Amino acid sequence: MPTTNHRRPTTRIGYGFDSHEFRAGIPLKIGGIALAHDKGLGGHSDGDVLLHAITDALLGAVAAPDIGALFLPSDPKWKGADSVVFLHEALKRVRGAGYRVANVDASLIMAAPRIGPHAAEIRSRVARLLGVRADCVGLKAKTPEGLNLENAAIAHVAVLLEKAAAARRSRKKSKT
Ligand code: MG
Repeated sequence: MPTTNHRRPTTRIGYGFDSHEFRAGIPLKIGGIALAHDKGLGGHSDGDVLLHAITDALLGAVAAPDIGALFLPSDPKWKGADSVVFLHEALKRVRGAGYRVANVDASLIMAAPRIGPHAAEIRSRVARLLGVRADCVGLKAKTPEGLNLENAAIAHVAVLLEKAAAARRSRKKSKT
């Protein structure tokens, strides 16, 4: 039988996935940014597929319940909710566990609109929300080649957390 390591790890990884369907006549929000498009993402909240995947990656990294368990889709409280609320709750749990975000890396998959022209704005918005530098947020945009998913938006996110105490120590060290 292997022995159990009871020490709190220095770093933890998290992974999140989400998908939403495009619907005509609703606003499109990705990474907390409103994008001009003739369709938005359906869902109980504002449908922000990227913030949902980041939220689940953060929650997963600290082994917390997932976004669907914390914010029940059947609860009318979350109808049309700003997904930033979900992200803030996940960050609260990350801090409570004694960690902070080191970096995140995301892949967005959708046929339209093109994300490239908005990537810098999305990255800096997500960085502000997470309290990290913009160069700690990776964002790749792909089209769903061969997937036959022209009406869906998909996000995959990996996140790395570092122990908050370790982060403080390394900041102090870099000053001296
Ligand atoms: Mg979602």
